[in-house]
Amino acid sequence: MSTKRIAVVGAGVNGVSIATACASLGHQVQLFDESTPFDQTSSASSRMLHGGIRYIEQGHIGLVREALIERDGWLRFAPNATRVERFYFPVYEGSKRGRWLLFAGALIYQWLAGRFSVGTSQLHSGEDLKHVFPNLIPQGLRGGASYCDVVMEYEPLIQCLVDEAERQGVRIVENTRIERLYSDGRIDTADQTLEFDRVINAAGPWAAKLLEASDIESGFTIDHVRGSHLILKASFTKALVLQAPGERRIIFVIPLDPEHVLLGTTEQKHDLPDPIVCTDAESAYLLEILNQHLSEPLAASDIVSSFAGVRPIVRPRDTAPGDMSSASRDSEIEISDRLISVFGGKWTSARRLGEKVAALV
Ligand SMILES: Cc1cc2nc3c(=O)[nH]c(=O)nc-3n(C[C@H](O)[C@H](O)[C@H](O)COP(=O)(O)OP(=O)(O)OC[C@H]3O[C@@H](n4cnc5c(N)ncnc54)[C@H](O)[C@@H]3O)c2cc1C
Repeated sequence: MSTKRIAVVGAGVNGVSIATACASLGHQVQLFDESTPFDQTSSASSRMLHGGIRYIEQGHIGLVREALIERDGWLRFAPNATRVERFYFPVYEGSKRGRWLLFAGALIYQWLAGRFSVGTSQLHSGEDLKHVFPNLIPQGLRGGASYCDVVMEYEPLIQCLVDEAERQGVRIVENTRIERLYSDGRIDTADQTLEFDRVINAAGPWAAKLLEASDIESGFTIDHVRGSHLILKASFTKALVLQAPGERRIIFVIPLDPEHVLLGTTEQKHDLPDPIVCTDAESAYLLEILNQHLSEPLAASDIVSSFAGVRPIVRPRDTAPGDMSSASRDSEIEISDRLISVFGGKWTSARRLGEKVAALV
């Protein structure tokens, strides 16, 4: 195999993983970002390395199975920056999904993981749940189900990824916006044109826009869905999955440390040029759903901070946008001569995506 000079555009989890995988095969890799690594979407996730239990209901079984295998890869890659967490679904009178249905979903999730399972799925009585979450409203609590998943320790994990990239020889070029791509291997920065054997467009939510700005036709486009999270001053010993009353959506409450939890997320259609921030309405929506479940509700003053990111949802250009909430979080790879573009994906499947792209190079 001959050594190639490769430019990767975008240093989110996908770009970093692609750059690392290419460098590990002996290629010379430069990784460009208009800001710094992990500055955009990849810093705004729900911090789960997971198969995505809710995708079972939506029928994306293959994607769930593949991501569950990837989840195991993260545990091995970064044992000190990942942890197994038990997630509890409380079920109330009138909840959209009953306790047996949730337990069945949780069992399928465990079964799909097979030998990569990280813990058993369980059925719980109301008493069990009150014991684990003393602050849950007891009236109407029917019990629930629980399953195990993997959560990242965000800062140590991105440090691991950046260290690994540098160890493999990736040169990270920060604060350098790529203005234009060409399918023959050239890229334009603000003041020069650089030439490579291969260029990989991993600009995440901006990947399709960058192609459009470069007058390069693509069979794919990206729909953008903003998701916001709150960090709250609150003490939960385990993670909760709440059913948003009157909706099919679920909201996660994940302990970050003994005094703080992460609450999210929302799903709002987003126009890319607009600022990516958690709006007051999203903040109120998230807090209200949590408070509908708590005997001692939290106040707006318990919100320590908020953040938002935009999910890149890939779609063939000739199809109409579907329901964003149930759209697949799968990724697509498109090759035009010396240019490879990646669209969509998840944190969880980024390392696998990196290997797939490196094999194509
Ligand atoms: C609210 C939310 C929750 C999520 N939760 C989870 C979860 O729990 N688990 C999970 O597996 N996945 C989750 N995801 C999905 C996951 O976070 C994303 O799919 C992933 O982070 C996308 O990474 P990326 O590298 O493609 O994009 P990004 O992280 O956005 O990286 C793209 C990079 O490209 C750079 N860039 C853009 N244009 C240019 C240019 N012209 N020149 C140079 N640089 C450029 C940007 O600065 C940016 O750093 C979530 C996503 C959201 C939004």
